[in-house]
Amino acid sequence: MAQENGFAEYKNLKIKQDEIDKYLKNGIDFIDDAKLEALLVAHHDTSAVRVREIIAKSLTIATLSHEETATLMAVTDPDLIAEMEVAAGQIKKKVYDNRIVTFAPLYLSNDCVNNCAYCGLRHENKAVDRSRLSLDQVKAEVESLAGVTGHKRLIVVYGEHPDSDIDYMVDTIKAIYDVKVPVGKNFGQIRRVNVNAAPLSVADLKKLNTAGLGTFQVFQETYHHATYSKVHPANTIKGNYQWRLYAMHRAMEAGIDDVGIGALFGLYNWRFEVLGLLSHAIELESVLGIGPHTISFPRMEPAESTPFASNSPWLVSDAEFRKAITVIRLAVPYTGMILTARECAEMRTSLLPLGITQTDASSKIGVGAYAESPRGTDQHVEKQQFTLGDTRSLDDVVYELATLGYITSFCTAGYRCGRTGQCIMDLLRSGQEGKFCKLNAVLTFREWLDDFASPKTKEIGEKILAMEIAQVKEKNPKVYDAFFKNYEETRLGARDLYF
Ligand code: SF4
Repeated sequence: MAQENGFAEYKNLKIKQDEIDKYLKNGIDFIDDAKLEALLVAHHDTSAVRVREIIAKSLTIATLSHEETATLMAVTDPDLIAEMEVAAGQIKKKVYDNRIVTFAPLYLSNDCVNNCAYCGLRHENKAVDRSRLSLDQVKAEVESLAGVTGHKRLIVVYGEHPDSDIDYMVDTIKAIYDVKVPVGKNFGQIRRVNVNAAPLSVADLKKLNTAGLGTFQVFQETYHHATYSKVHPANTIKGNYQWRLYAMHRAMEAGIDDVGIGALFGLYNWRFEVLGLLSHAIELESVLGIGPHTISFPRMEPAESTPFASNSPWLVSDAEFRKAITVIRLAVPYTGMILTARECAEMRTSLLPLGITQTDASSKIGVGAYAESPRGTDQHVEKQQFTLGDTRSLDDVVYELATLGYITSFCTAGYRCGRTGQCIMDLLRSGQEGKFCKLNAVLTFREWLDDFASPKTKEIGEKILAMEIAQVKEKNPKVYDAFFKNYEETRLGARDLYF
């Protein structure tokens, strides 16, 4: 009981009502449930003419309206759906070319004061083995990720708990950046740390920003107010819908302009969640001038002692999930789209052409799991938030991507060169971001192939590199000489050269 009282006090300390109220319009937030529900039952003109008109707008990298997005979701003609899927792939190619950025999740703590009905880490789930990594343990995890697997980019995840407060977050991020693992003539290192955490106050976000983070992610889980209240008990911090909804407004106010939004598909009608994500993107664009850097769309997976996760009436079928991803790609064409290892390998492969830009690999979501078994793919369900569907190694994923014509990018240059926020949005919308990113994708792929790839992955990777270098020469001749100089230096052992 003493602990529960402590948590109530923690909740009061954490939520700053004035940091919600300032963004509300007449006391109301920007998710209008009635309007979104009405759009889902309205009659939409799904004729080929209308659908192609909407697709054409997407192809100009313009954000769609709610009505246009609802129309696309209402399409049932398989031929038109196929056209939408092709367009989704074209948009991705136009904005991000054939690059897939890769990363690994790193869970630093799994104790949580909240009680989300769908989550294996909810406070009242006694089946979970709780822990929080010490700074030495963080170092060991990073040595495995950066020194054995070759990751350059992490998404760090924290439970919401006084033991993993802002000071712990800043200390652990700094500890991650400090790790340098000897690899070949040089060293392996994490160069970009993205953060997935609970909503923070502006003051805490400013502190977080000093640690040098990449993207700050907070997923709303469900945008549907009533469902949100049902699965997030009111006596918990997470029970406050609006504290979460305005997390990105506060992040931008604190100077963090790369933000990632997301919804957990399976809590409510997937069509509503797509409109919710769109509403969030439009709100950020219109109020703060910068849309989301990434959108995530995790699908609910089974979790230890968590029957809700398997029994929700709104579980999303594979076909529905495919359509949701296609429509998100068309509706918010400039944004990065993250498909994680929650999905099985076959599903991930089949969804990639719909406009996916980022994916994780060799993922382990048990706290401390990377150091326990650096090369193994074993999981620790008793320490995890949910069950992973794809436990393939990074090498296997890179190999498959190469067979499909994708180059795996380990690029982390953007935020280190100041290409974030408005700057990156402008580059993405105008199709210019690729000018830098292709060069950096080639350089970092060269590094990874030489330092970490298996012989078969290296063999196919060389073919991808030859093709990419030829493209740089043809399409970007002005920078080719400077680029090729960096490429040669990288081939000879230099590391972390970027544009
Ligand atoms: Fe805690 Fe997040 Fe799980 Fe909710 S979803 S119980 S906030 S870890």
